[in-house]
Formats: sequence, structure tokens, C-alpha cells
Amino acid sequence: MYIATVDFCACGGCLNSFLSVGEPLLSLLGEHTISFSSLLADRRNISPSDVVIATGGIRNLEELDIAREVSRTSRKVLAVGSCAVHGGIPGMAPLSEEVASLGKDSELPELLEEVEPLDSCMNIDLYVPGCPPTPEVLFEALKSVLEGYAPFHYDGTVCSECIRRVERKPVKSWSAHPGAGLPPEDCLLNHGLLCLGPITRGGCFAVCPSRGSRCMGCRGPSDMVLSSQLHSMHSDMVKFVSLTTGIKENKVEKVLGGMLKEVYLFTRCDPVIRSKANEKLQDGRGGGPS
Ligand code: SF4
Ligand code: SF4
Ligand code: SF4
Repeated sequence: MYIATVDFCACGGCLNSFLSVGEPLLSLLGEHTISFSSLLADRRNISPSDVVIATGGIRNLEELDIAREVSRTSRKVLAVGSCAVHGGIPGMAPLSEEVASLGKDSELPELLEEVEPLDSCMNIDLYVPGCPPTPEVLFEALKSVLEGYAPFHYDGTVCSECIRRVERKPVKSWSAHPGAGLPPEDCLLNHGLLCLGPITRGGCFAVCPSRGSRCMGCRGPSDMVLSSQLHSMHSDMVKFVSLTTGIKENKVEKVLGGMLKEVYLFTRCDPVIRSKANEKLQDGRGGGPS
């Protein structure tokens, strides 16, 4: 088969994670041909391929044209990384007027109003979220497509993979960073850290909380959020925190109101949840934790 990697508005982290697979990747690719790749092959033009590993979202008109052409000439496309699946961190850019004006009076390709996830203009066969997805998840996804079997679907949340245990108890104060001496078995939420594990798709084996950092939600909304009526990561987070801490939902709203950019850091441009995110972010209450 002919395999290509194509990068749109991407930082290169996803491709690096892909290359980090190492020996198993070489064995898997050994039977196939790299038709185009900025890192793996010296080719100037993207040619029709059987499998395309696409990273990044669509940020400008040039990328939009390339994406449509790749979609038209490829058999299967994997959307790899949160930028490709949800728009990712570059999706926060339209919030700055300075960035929105770039490209208007220059030779740079004209910017779109919003960063678009790849499925806005391409047929996607498999979504592999994460910023970046782990090498293991990426390898498994590519293998499943090349060998024609159904990939594993991570339908649980990050909490379901976390070694920390949540307790129903009040939070004294909220902060962005863990203090020293946090017990390894204690849930970060119980210590006032806005860990997004309860609303985020698992598959990373809770790598951040297990090292004492809160989950920032890079794997996007869990199946539970997507199947809920509102598709609102914010509402589901409020409900979970309220249940966990015993604090009333309207009071939790006030705390989380100052952390909305955090909740939608990777997903603001996802059409499924963007209306909810915009409604919240544009009312002037967005911001990072203090
Ligand atoms: S998902 Fe993360 S690692 Fe991948 S291209 Fe986007 S910012 Fe980079
Ligand atoms: S909220 Fe965070 S720290 Fe707590 S169990 Fe879930 S993932 Fe682990
Ligand atoms: S714990 Fe959260 S932020 Fe960290 S890799 Fe997993 S999904 Fe991403």
C-alpha cells in the first residue's frame, strides 16, 4: 500500500510521537511504500495514497484546498491528534484580533475565521485524539487500518484509568498547581486542582494525573459528554465537581467560570460542542486559573 503523512496546522508533535514508535513501526511500514511525508520521504508532491495519516486542523485557504484534494485522492484517512480531530490549541487563536488580521494584507494564505477540524472538509475513517496521541495508540490505529481490523475504542474516561481515588469531600481552595507532598493515591480534584479527567476520553492511561499534573483534556470529550443532551464539557464538569465536593452547582459554576478556556483548550472549534464553548467563552468570563 501507499502511505502518506500530511501535516496541516500542526506543531510536529504528533508526527514525532508517531516516529517514537521505533522498531515496530519500521517492521509495519517495511511492507509498504511512503508516498509522501515531510519527515520520512524526500518527495515534493502529495500523490494519491491508500492510507493518509493527517495531523493538524485547517487554518487557512491553502490548507483547505490541500485537504479536499487529499480526501478526494485517498482511500483512508486517519485524523491524528487533537488539532486534527477537534481543532486543538490553535482553535483558541481567533480570540486574538491581532492573529485574526494576519494574512489579510500579506502574501500569506488567507486565514479562516475559525480553525476547522479535518472532518469539516475530509472524509475521516479513524479519529486518534491526543496532544499528541501516545506512540502505542498511534501504532495500534495505523496497524488496524493496514491489517483491516476494528481498532480499540476507548470509551471510558481518564478517571477510569487513574490510580488516584476520588472521595466525596469539600475543597478548601482551588489552584492551578499541586502543592508539595500530595499523596499519590489522592484525587487531584479533592486537592482543589481542576483535573478534567472526569469528562475526558481515556486511552492515555492517565499519564498526567499519575505524575501529579492535572488532566488538561487533550483527548477531548468522553463518550458520556458526547451522548449527553447538551454536549457541554463545562456542564458535565460542574455536575461532577458538585457531586464530588458536595458544593452546590451554582457555586461550582462561579469557580469554573474563571477557568473556561482551560475546559475548552483543545475543543473550542469542534462543531459538536463549539456553540456551547463560544457561548461561554465570549461572555467575558473565560480565563485561566489564578
Ligand atoms: S495535537 Fe498537539 S502535538 Fe499534535 S499537532 Fe496539535 S498541538 Fe501538536
Ligand atoms: S479527577 Fe483526575 S486525579 Fe481524580 S481520579 Fe479523575 S483523573 Fe484521577
Ligand atoms: S491525562 Fe489528560 S491531558 Fe494528560 S495525556 Fe491524558 S487526556 Fe491528555
